[in-house]
Amino acid sequence: SSSRGCVTLRGAQIRDLLDAKHNVLFDCDGVIWNGETAVTGAPEVVSLLKQRGKRVFFVTNNCTRPRENYVQKFCRLGFTDVAEEEIFSSAYCSAAYLRDVARLQGKVYVIGCGGVMKELQDAGVPVVEEDSAADREPGTSIYNCPLDPDVKAVLVGYDENFTFMKLAKACCYLRNSECLFLATDPDPWHPLRGGRITPGSGSLTAALETASSRKATVIGKPSRFMYECIASQFDLDPARSLMIGDRLETDILFGSNCGLSTVLTLTGVSTLEEAHRYRDSEAPEQKDCVPDYVVESVADFLQALEE
Ligand code: PLP
Ligand code: CA
Repeated sequence: SSSRGCVTLRGAQIRDLLDAKHNVLFDCDGVIWNGETAVTGAPEVVSLLKQRGKRVFFVTNNCTRPRENYVQKFCRLGFTDVAEEEIFSSAYCSAAYLRDVARLQGKVYVIGCGGVMKELQDAGVPVVEEDSAADREPGTSIYNCPLDPDVKAVLVGYDENFTFMKLAKACCYLRNSECLFLATDPDPWHPLRGGRITPGSGSLTAALETASSRKATVIGKPSRFMYECIASQFDLDPARSLMIGDRLETDILFGSNCGLSTVLTLTGVSTLEEAHRYRDSEAPEQKDCVPDYVVESVADFLQALEE
């Protein structure tokens, strides 16, 4: 095929690419770790990039942990020199959006998890008490559950305690067209150990989109907002930045949307065959999911960094 992209990186090419870039943005799950297991060589790659004067950022759609908790996870998995300021999660960026972009004057109704709640709290964004005692009173149902008149936004993230009641409340709030509708990320599902998967935030958002006849504003990858969040705090030249990810529809599309060079690593969700399918497709919009480069693993960067 004459289509471009999907170049398998080897030896000297990796060195040339790294020489041309100053900033490396890593997706987390599937790239530097899988669940609680670091990808072999990934901690060394991150340390060596820093030693070589590169700036390193972590861009994750996982909203389940607040930033400070991520620092602990990085340490636990052997990434010993990662700072909180380098970690951009969909929870952190959702809170930043509500505070700095929407400048929300009111409360947020959250379908989510601890990581989202903590980031909203740290950003000073008021939240309505979810699953409040009132909801659990006998006789409380979708007909009479209390609704807070101060709610001006609904934020949907990953929620293992998602219920029909939460969905019902959220679509009541969204009847008001002034009420914002945000989603932490569009991820459909995530791999768990042993071949199982868990539904992602995108599945819950889809339910609410159907129920409300509205479309959510997505904060996480592939939306540009996470990049803008980083760029608002650090001086970033997209032409000198590299995005490394494992999911074509989020990470690679994010990189394309932000004008970054993109690398698909094969230690996570997407396969080389899927990348080729996007590359060989007739539909022009599919091209944005084609990675510029492909590596088996981020460990492929080790040799270029060690010399
Ligand atoms: N959200 C949840 C709940 C997850 O479990 C995961 C991955 O395990 C993700 C999002 C995706 O994270 P990342 O963007 O780091 O791949
Ligand atoms: Ca990933």
